[in-house]
Amino acid sequence: MTEEILDSSILDAPRILVTPPGPKSTEILKQQEELETSALNYPKYFKIAIKEAKGSTIIDVDGNIYIDWFAGIAVVNLGHNNPIIRKAVESQLDKVWHYMEVPSEIRVEFMKTLRKTLNFDSKFLFTTTGADAVEAAIKIARWNTGKRHIIAFNEAYHGVSAATVGLSNMLNHRRFQPFHDTNVLRLPYPYEFRCPFKDCLNDILSLVEYEIKNNEVAGIIVEPIAGEGGYIVPPKGFLKGLREIASEHNVLLIVDEIQTGVGRTGKIWAYEWEGIKLDIITISKGIGEGIPISLVAYNKDLDNLPQAFHLGTYRGNPIGMAVGNATLNYLMTSNILERVVTLGDYTKKQFNQIMEDSYKLGKYEVRGLGFMIGIEFSNENKSPISVKPYIDMLLRNGVIMYKAGMFDNVLRYMAPLTIPKLLIDRGLEKFEDVIKSTK
Ligand code: PMP
Repeated sequence: MTEEILDSSILDAPRILVTPPGPKSTEILKQQEELETSALNYPKYFKIAIKEAKGSTIIDVDGNIYIDWFAGIAVVNLGHNNPIIRKAVESQLDKVWHYMEVPSEIRVEFMKTLRKTLNFDSKFLFTTTGADAVEAAIKIARWNTGKRHIIAFNEAYHGVSAATVGLSNMLNHRRFQPFHDTNVLRLPYPYEFRCPFKDCLNDILSLVEYEIKNNEVAGIIVEPIAGEGGYIVPPKGFLKGLREIASEHNVLLIVDEIQTGVGRTGKIWAYEWEGIKLDIITISKGIGEGIPISLVAYNKDLDNLPQAFHLGTYRGNPIGMAVGNATLNYLMTSNILERVVTLGDYTKKQFNQIMEDSYKLGKYEVRGLGFMIGIEFSNENKSPISVKPYIDMLLRNGVIMYKAGMFDNVLRYMAPLTIPKLLIDRGLEKFEDVIKSTK
C-alpha cells in the first residue's frame, strides 16, 4: 500500500498530555486575540496553538497530539507535509515564485494534466480562493448567455465575497454584506432526511425547470454534495437531471467542486459519479494542498472572454501549480482513489454502528461518499441538535472534527485521504467514547 511512503502521521496519536488549551496554547491564543480581528472563527472551536502538522496528525505547542479529521477544512487531501507535495514545492522554489499570467513551464504542464482529468474540452482561468473562482464562473455564464439569473440551492455554500454571498444560503453572511448579488433564485437541495416534498428529486427538478421558464437564467450552480450545508448527498440522478434541464433550455451548468474535488469522494471529481458533461467547474482547496490557488475550467466553446475579463495580481501561483500538478498525477497513478472508496465505506459503517449503539438523543443520519462523511444529530422530532459542544469534547479526546449544516447539526469527517487506517480506528474509539458520554 502506498500509505507507508506517503504518510508522516504520528502513529501513537492521539496523545493528550494536558487538557487543551494547555498553558502554552493559552498564551498564544491570548496574544492572537489581542492582535487579530474579533471576526476570527476557527480558534473559537479549536482552542490550541499548532506547533507542527504531520500526515493526519497535529501537534500543539503543549505537546498534545491530535488525529486530524478536518484537514484544514478539506484542503490537505494528501496529508500535512506530504513528501510528494514537499518535493513539488521545493523544486518550484528554485525556478519562479510569481509572475502573474506570464507563462512558465509548470503553468502549461499543469493545464495539460488538468485536461487529462476532465471529460470535456476545457480551458482554464486561474484565481486565488474558492469564492474568487465561483465569482469568475458566474461571470463566464452571464457573459456567454447574456442573462442575469443564477439558480443556486438551499444548503449551498459558494463563498462569502460580495459576489458570491448571494449564492450561499448563509443568512448571517448576507447580513454582514448588504450589497450581495440579488439575481439569485434559490431552490431546495434534495435533502432527503428533511425533504418537504413527496418525490424529493423529481419535484425539485420540476421546480428548477419552472424557474428557468419564468426567469432569465444564465446558469445553475450546484455542489455534487452540499458541503458546508451538511454533507448532504443528493439522490442519484440529481446532477444528471440538472444536466438535462440545462441542456434543453440553454442554461449553463456550473459544478462547484471546491470541496468535493481532488479525490475526496473517491473520484478525482465528484461529478464523475454521475458521468455527466459539464460546462463549467470550480476547483480550489485540495488542488493547492494549502497553497492558495483556485481555478475555473470551462468548455472551450465558452471561450470568447475579452482581455482582462477577470483580472488580478494572483492568477495562478507557480508553486500552487506545481503542487496541483503533483497532486493530480498522484491521484491518477496511485491506488488512493480505491482506498478512499473502501476506507470511506468502512468508516461510514463504523460511524453508523456507533450511532446505532450509543446515540441516545433521538434520530440521526450518517451519510457521505468517500472521505466526505456527515453525521447529523437531531432529537426524536428531527429538531436539529447543535454539534458545537461535541467539537470541544472530541478535541479534548484528541480528535479534530468540525461542524456543518444550516443548524450546526452535522459533524463531518474530512480526514486526509492518506490517513493510516490505524488512526481511523483510534479516532472512532474516541468518537464512540464521546457519543456514549452524552445522554
Ligand atoms: N465553494 C465551496 C463548495 C466551498 O466549500 C467553499 C469553502 N468552504 C467555497 C466555495 C469558498 O471557498 P473560499 O473559502 O476559498 O472562498
